[in-house]
Amino acid sequence: MAINVIDEKCKGCSICVKNCPFDAITMEGKLAVIGTSCTECGVCVEKCPFDAIEKTEVEKKNTQDISAYQGVWVFAEQRDGKIMPVVMELLGEGKKLAKEIGTELCAVLCGHNVDFLADELFAHGAEKVYIADHGELNTYRTDAYTKVIYSAIEKYKPEIVLLGATHIGRDLGPCLAVKANTGLTADCTQLEIDPVGKYLKQTRPAFGGNLMATIVCKDHRPQMSTVRPGVMDKAQYDRSLKGEVVKLEVEFNDGDIRTKVIDIVKTVKNQVSLTDAEIIVSGGMGLGKPEGFELLQKLADKLGAMVGASRACVDAGWIDHSHQIGQTGTTVKPKIYFACGISGAIQHLAGMQNSDYIIAINTNEAAPILETADFGIVGDLYQVIPTIIEELDKLEE
Ligand code: FAD
Ligand code: SF4
Ligand code: SF4
Repeated sequence: MAINVIDEKCKGCSICVKNCPFDAITMEGKLAVIGTSCTECGVCVEKCPFDAIEKTEVEKKNTQDISAYQGVWVFAEQRDGKIMPVVMELLGEGKKLAKEIGTELCAVLCGHNVDFLADELFAHGAEKVYIADHGELNTYRTDAYTKVIYSAIEKYKPEIVLLGATHIGRDLGPCLAVKANTGLTADCTQLEIDPVGKYLKQTRPAFGGNLMATIVCKDHRPQMSTVRPGVMDKAQYDRSLKGEVVKLEVEFNDGDIRTKVIDIVKTVKNQVSLTDAEIIVSGGMGLGKPEGFELLQKLADKLGAMVGASRACVDAGWIDHSHQIGQTGTTVKPKIYFACGISGAIQHLAGMQNSDYIIAINTNEAAPILETADFGIVGDLYQVIPTIIEELDKLEE
């Protein structure tokens, strides 16, 4: 795109100057001039009463030979020598994608003395593991990780790069994409290969979760996505699987890394591992009061389950954010999900609708959650849950 002023039509009224949200237009005598801070938003095109500003398509020539890019890469995020669970999910999904485009599945591992983790990555399906080992990579820092992984991307040219949408993945992914001059789709919940074009179709919630957007990156490589933890199936573990280790050259010069880790302070709180839970008992505003979570905890204890919550309860201060399930909370995929007093807003469903079985308890038979649920109980949770607990007690006797 390009924004141009048609000199002959410009009357010098300066309406465009006042309307440009980016202060990108100045008047040179009686002529409007578009400056370098123009974002091509198009507001001035609409506002000029004399049709003196036009937006034109400029054909961008991409000189990148995209056919040179091969392989699906998964960023094997590790912390303190432990691979993050989302990596196994990315390997599971990456395997399917690699099979569909007939390429290999690789993992990229950064850290210090982390070679021993390669076996775990092979056992989860990686055929090749690129390892960058250096003291400076011991703790994650944007500059250091970006430098080594970008160098590897330049050298080995992967077709697809997947990262977990963790704090680290969300920081690293965009930096790599900018360096590689490619696109990145953040927070994907679904990935598939276009059967004809063989490019990656990256789907993510958009507009507050009200619709799903599928984004493609046809002309640039690698195609990059961050993927929400807990959404994809984990790769099968098979100890007999082996692969190739490729050591990456790592060298840092003065000024390469602009930050220094002085101290790491870990917050001490009961970490809620909802993504790994097989059963989740979740509560919503139908609980009526914060103490309602004590009843849910009772049921959860009986079932060996974790307690989840809707955002409304978190916003009300009834329970900590670490329990929140949904679009702006954790995405879960347990065997059984109890939704107690939860209406089933789209933003909540986005985080739990892939559960194997959903059991909803709600007083309102028209509540949307009952449409998604496999089993719906229309009733007051303060009567239904104690009855379930009683029945479970009988089974124990
Ligand atoms: P309500 O909608 O108030 O529903 C309460 C339900 O309890 C009702 O269906 C009612 O019939 C039932 N009920 C009442 N009394 C009883 C009883 N005694 N027994 C049984 N049932 C009873 N929400 C999330 O959960 N997670 C998110 O991540 C999230 N992200 C969001 C992001 C954005 C950008 C926006 C705009 C919203 C987000 N929300 C999220 C909020 C979401 O839209 C809903 O407002 C929220 O999920 C509603 O919570 P709720 O179901 O607990 O409450
Ligand atoms: Fe010229 Fe149109 Fe801007 Fe007026 S609004 S100064 S006519 S370009
Ligand atoms: Fe300003 Fe947008 Fe017009 Fe550019 S396209 S000059 S940013 S109003």
